[in-house]
Amino acid sequence: MIYLSPPDVTEAEEAALVRAIRSGWVAPLGPEVTAFEAEVAAATGRAHAVALSSGTAALHLGLLLLGVRPGDVVVCSSMTFAATANAITYVGAEPWFVDADASANLNPDLLRQALATADAEGRRVGAVVPVDLFGHVVDHDRIDPIAAAAGVPLLCDAAESLGATYAGRPSGSFGELAALSFNGNKVITTSGGGALLTDDAAVAERARYLATQARQPARHYEHTEVGYNYRLSNLLAALGRAQLARLDAMVARRREIRLRYRELLGGLPGVRFLGQPEAEAGATTDNYWLTSILVEPDLAGFSSEQLGAALTAAGIESRPLWKPLHLQPVFAGARAELDGTGQWLFEHGLSLPSGSALTDDQLDTVIGVLAKVVASA
Ligand SMILES: *Cc1c(COP(=O)(O)O)cnc(C)c1O
Repeated sequence: MIYLSPPDVTEAEEAALVRAIRSGWVAPLGPEVTAFEAEVAAATGRAHAVALSSGTAALHLGLLLLGVRPGDVVVCSSMTFAATANAITYVGAEPWFVDADASANLNPDLLRQALATADAEGRRVGAVVPVDLFGHVVDHDRIDPIAAAAGVPLLCDAAESLGATYAGRPSGSFGELAALSFNGNKVITTSGGGALLTDDAAVAERARYLATQARQPARHYEHTEVGYNYRLSNLLAALGRAQLARLDAMVARRREIRLRYRELLGGLPGVRFLGQPEAEAGATTDNYWLTSILVEPDLAGFSSEQLGAALTAAGIESRPLWKPLHLQPVFAGARAELDGTGQWLFEHGLSLPSGSALTDDQLDTVIGVLAKVVASA
């Protein structure tokens, strides 16, 4: 079986885990966590990173730290993994979805409209949560001023975009706060984990406090607030450090994979790639987390379903794009600012095997299967 984006672990990660175990720091926190936080902050151009048990935990704490309250609206991308909106419900707020534009990221014009409508209805908007889909950073030149004009802070869901840049700045450096994920399928992994990024030392300190059961500094375990068990363990932080040291190489490998797919499919009528066009990549670069294509069957002579079925038959994993959350039964009835683009992308899109651990032989196999479908069109 060839997977979409499996973990890419080597002897370096194995050695890091053994080092952490032998150091005796197996009890949750320890020096690997502190070092990992400093390295993640440096990699994302932030003053502080707080290592957490998941990206979802980072989003949840991020919303709490921005002061989002029950009954608030939180405006977020519709085209994303459910975790983005799940976290909004954890704080008792209501997700208000904004459709994608052709880039599959949040449409700034529809964001402006959603904020205006919420304001006209007298709703308090606690935060805007844009998502860097598949490793392509959102259009901050447009989105940030719109949120700022409405007086609403940004919590950037950068779970998929570690290692990407926008206008020369690293992913994760945008917004009041940003959330990363180190889940098993992401660009780097701690098997499970995440981080909350901030430039405010007090916010980082409060995030660490809330993530350790809101425990007051007293010998007898004193608590004045409800907290969470959200910290990353020292062992997993060691794994994360070994992964982060390889981030550039892993992004470079994912880029090579993107270029191979472009070679085969790039010039075909009716086929389009999501993400930054290679020719325009400069100060804005993807991390190439997933290579995703859009296929218009009338023009291409084949569909994304046909490609996906041929890959499945050959033991190769592929996936449709995230099903927009406004179409998910669990969020039926949620407010949304839509123009149909997300649904179109969902119905025509396919994500291809993109993991940095993919070997050249495996990539040749995938390309061979795709080439056959293309040739028979
Ligand atoms: C993976 C992901 C998350 C959640 O991260 P976990 O570490 O799995 O909790 C949140 N948002 C997006 C867009 C993701 O892709």
